[in-house]
Amino acid sequence: MTVHPEQRIDLEALRARYRAERDRRLRPDGDDQYTPLADRRGAGDPWTSGEDRRDPVDDAVDALVVGGGFGGLVAAARLRDAGLERIRIVDAAGDLGGTWYWNRYPGVACDVESYIYLPLLEEVGVMPTRKYAPGEEIRQHARAIGRRFDLYRDALLRTEVTSLRWDDDAARWTVRTDHGDVVAARYVVVSSGPFNRPKLPGIPGLADFRGHTFHTSRWDYAHTGGGPDGGLDRLADRRVAVIGTGATAIQAVPHLAEGARHLYVVQRTPSTVDERGDRPTDPAWWDSLEPGWQRARRENFLDLVDGRHADVDLVDDRWTDTAPVRGSRRRARGEEEPALATELADAEKMTEIRARVDDLVVDPTVAAALKPWYRQMCKRPTFSDRYLQAFNRPDVTLLDTRGAGVERVTADGIVVDGVEYPVDTIVLATGFELGVDPATRAGADIRGRGGLPLAEYWADGLRTLHGWVSRGFPNLFHLGSTQNAASPNFAHVLEVQAEHVAGVVAEAEARGDVLVEPSAAAEDRWVATIRERAVDLQVFQAACTPGYYNGEGRPRRRSEQFGGGPVEFHAVLAEWRAHGDREEVFTAR
Ligand code: NDP
Repeated sequence: MTVHPEQRIDLEALRARYRAERDRRLRPDGDDQYTPLADRRGAGDPWTSGEDRRDPVDDAVDALVVGGGFGGLVAAARLRDAGLERIRIVDAAGDLGGTWYWNRYPGVACDVESYIYLPLLEEVGVMPTRKYAPGEEIRQHARAIGRRFDLYRDALLRTEVTSLRWDDDAARWTVRTDHGDVVAARYVVVSSGPFNRPKLPGIPGLADFRGHTFHTSRWDYAHTGGGPDGGLDRLADRRVAVIGTGATAIQAVPHLAEGARHLYVVQRTPSTVDERGDRPTDPAWWDSLEPGWQRARRENFLDLVDGRHADVDLVDDRWTDTAPVRGSRRRARGEEEPALATELADAEKMTEIRARVDDLVVDPTVAAALKPWYRQMCKRPTFSDRYLQAFNRPDVTLLDTRGAGVERVTADGIVVDGVEYPVDTIVLATGFELGVDPATRAGADIRGRGGLPLAEYWADGLRTLHGWVSRGFPNLFHLGSTQNAASPNFAHVLEVQAEHVAGVVAEAEARGDVLVEPSAAAEDRWVATIRERAVDLQVFQAACTPGYYNGEGRPRRRSEQFGGGPVEFHAVLAEWRAHGDREEVFTAR
């Protein structure tokens, strides 16, 4: 690495460069530049074929879980542990796995360490093959959870929930689906995931392209050949353009480069690409792990990425070395004023990331174009030991649009900066819609007591107790990002949320005559805590290059995250379960 600690950083010059990067990317249409890829099932499912019709179901279950990804799976598993008999997962996909069901593009793998990412490893008794397991292995793990907790029995797959209505007399939710099912459920968990709606770029002419186009979450192996491990042999005589350079493209590009006759990588904003350091799991190390190791390892990682001190760094990868983590260490040393320490740590980290591009990319012009000029957490960090190297191949061309994006698509190719590049295939690595209202993200019309729509109840901001339950919506629980706390290891925070929900449900079951519904006072207090503790990210995000982290350059005024971070949030939940006032959350039926 070419950076030395004594290298001086001119912060003023850096800020000016970052502002310039942001300004050339800002566009008036913000989020509106994208169009959704139809509804999930209308967008097609490359992984399931055959007849989609079946007789509608009309029955009653103990719990219905919207979403068969890791959040829904762990919630269902924990509800099973709590003694519930009939648990029904409903998902649009043809199988369990959530994002790992849909995303099977070449190179797909987790980039958070698999030992802490994959849920319930100890209970399912599985050893991930690698530090960063391939997507297919992760998908099979989701299926194994489904089998281990008998979740296939009542599952309704290739099915979308259309409405949830609270029936006060029966003290049940009535759940309707797009297959005409009508299910009565005592409890409902909504875990629809943040990346459930692929989006397409609004590039003029895209619909007129005569070649083949698909989104990375609907990979077309019939067209490309090969599989998630690569070997895209049907691209050998094709010129391919991939649009987008986010975390997905970083993983797919090395395989596209190997397969295509020629690959154009169309870049609007370069990602930060740090070291990955993947390696096979050492079975001897694995056998040496003591029971409870996964929880301990997850908590150690969470402490570190939450900016706390830990005596060891068990995961020891580039996530525990991001700019904010370095910033917290630097602040702890107390040598500079906190904001300066944070900014200096970021500048050092980004200088290293840019130096890494120079180290790995031979052509200096290409290397210059691949360097990211923004603070690291403006965009999702990425990790690869193959992506940057792909640009050294003679059959790979970086089309750097310098923030402008593709100008237009013609019948035969793409136009960048006035030049048309004829291509046969366009791969859209353009990500997912994130600005969707959490009340409607699952795609269901949710109505609680008195027919009140959840979207209306939350119209002026979320109203929950601890992010998972709202007054007027008894026995309805939310997993995800709703007045709780996030972490790069999203599977971990989902599991903590799921355990909390199931713990409270177990208690409600033991009482027998109660509903889980917060008191007005408890909910008011949590909303007030969210507002009081909110970390104001406006200034940071407004200075960032646009992306989904900052609402495409229009940062939200109000944060719905708990400002104390995930470690403190998990302690709040644990404290409530141990000593909380039960009247705050149980109401008589
Ligand atoms: P992203 O939203 O991160 O990236 C979309 C890309 O498309 C960006 O590079 C964007 O450019 C580009 N783009 C959009 N419109 C245009 C246009 N008109 N012209 C040119 N480029 C365009 O989506 P991803 O699918 O890459 O990632 C989504 C998330 O999924 C990640 O952030 C991550 O959280 C998760 N993920 C996780 C993985 C894991 O291993 N755990 C692996 C892959 C994804 P610009 O940056 O300029 O907006």
